[in-house]
Amino acid sequence: MESERCIFCEIVRGDLPAEIIYQNDKVIAFRDIRSQAPEHILIIPKEHIPTLNDLSTEHKELMGNC
Ligand SMILES: [Zn+2]
Repeated sequence: MESERCIFCEIVRGDLPAEIIYQNDKVIAFRDIRSQAPEHILIIPKEHIPTLNDLSTEHKELMGNC
């Protein structure tokens, strides 16, 4: 069964081209090409995050490691 997918999952899988800045076994950081700011970098967990609200709660500790 295909799991949920979003733009972040596709970047993690390499299905979507992105400029990877940094990654380890838990998180991946890449340049946000959609952003107006030239130096906007997104750092996300490699596991699927349904919404940004989930990101701010469940993964707070994980994001703190970034
Ligand atoms: Zn996802």
